[in-house]
Amino acid sequence: MADITKKNQELINFHDEYIMGTYGRYPIVLVEGKGSTLKDADGKKYIDFTSGIGVNSLGACNDNWIAAITAQLNKIQHISNYYYNDASAKLAEKLVKLANMKKVFFGNSGAEANEGAIKLARKYSFDKYGEGRGVILTLKDSFHGRTMATLAATGQSIFHNYFFPFPQGFRFIERNNIEELKIEIANNSDICAVMIEPIQGESGINLICKEYIQEVYKICNENDILLIFDEIQTGISRTGKVFAHEYFEIEPDIATVAKGLGGGLPIGAFLCNEKLEKTLDAGKHGSTFGGNPVVCAGALEVLNTVSQPEFLSEVNEKGGYIVDKIKNFNSSSIIEIRQKGLMIGLQLKLKNGEAPKDYAKKCLENGLLVLTAGEDVLRFLPPLNISYDEIDAGLKVLEKIL
Ligand SMILES: *Cc1c(COP(=O)(O)O)cnc(C)c1O
Repeated sequence: MADITKKNQELINFHDEYIMGTYGRYPIVLVEGKGSTLKDADGKKYIDFTSGIGVNSLGACNDNWIAAITAQLNKIQHISNYYYNDASAKLAEKLVKLANMKKVFFGNSGAEANEGAIKLARKYSFDKYGEGRGVILTLKDSFHGRTMATLAATGQSIFHNYFFPFPQGFRFIERNNIEELKIEIANNSDICAVMIEPIQGESGINLICKEYIQEVYKICNENDILLIFDEIQTGISRTGKVFAHEYFEIEPDIATVAKGLGGGLPIGAFLCNEKLEKTLDAGKHGSTFGGNPVVCAGALEVLNTVSQPEFLSEVNEKGGYIVDKIKNFNSSSIIEIRQKGLMIGLQLKLKNGEAPKDYAKKCLENGLLVLTAGEDVLRFLPPLNISYDEIDAGLKVLEKIL
């Protein structure tokens, strides 16, 4: 990019000298922020429609969140899981009750939460049916993480390269195609679970039909196959309900969450219902940092805030407001808008050789941070408490670009 100034560039060179080049980063260094407004090393301001990929639920440096973390920091920062701590218990109570589930396990990331969910499902099946019933069906175009097992679970073939051998026991079915699931189950007795992202985030904000999910739920129940919902991106009020599974009026056996839960500190968790509450007994799973009291104290503040009914209606109103405004752009570059709450995908009509990243770069140059998804989608996951002024400022940039 032409207009990178020296301060940003110096820091980028320094960074690249020591950190692996695993990401295609945009050439700015973000140094501070408040709410949904961030600042780079040169003092240039950006409206944030990314929240660090759906992580900073309350924006940058939320006062109450900082107070909750600081209070815990002043008591103790970490204890091992050989002992108990009250911060994780308080968070667990809130999370379990909101999810209408029975128990939770805390880890540190989305992929780690999914790994735990996979272990839990397989052990349940092993205990009851013995070996040979450990296959998990996942959907094509899904994304479940970057560890070996979660890569294997991810239903996109571009992820199944280089790192052979991958863990076994995952097969893929098409979303919204109930016949394919029925055939899989009729022809195989090796399936222990079906894992679904209720809205496929990374592959382009692809919505899944309610009728399909309800049918999957029914078929799973009839066959004692567990239903796992990967709510790592959709959970914690992102879609205008605390959990996206509420939209489908079903209850999965296992749900995983991560991104938005910690409000910016690393945490992942998997929840289970009564049927599974005793499956992972002492010694069967663990994580050194899991349930860290500082992270949990911050997460409790996030959860207490974003689960309020008024807060949830605002998330929905803001999502609707953004969509209405974009529809009024009358831009010929937009094919479709897909949205639930503040999870928004804008499918672009790309010219030959164009990628959504080209648009994201133009937005950045003009002071707006956006995400991309799939092959042709701009994705917006703003902080859940973004102000209407910040929304308007961001949309002004977007209109100009589109
Ligand atoms: C981000 C994401 C993951 C992986 O989470 P990490 O914290 O990066 O490991 C898994 N599933 C879904 C649906 C995600 O959006």
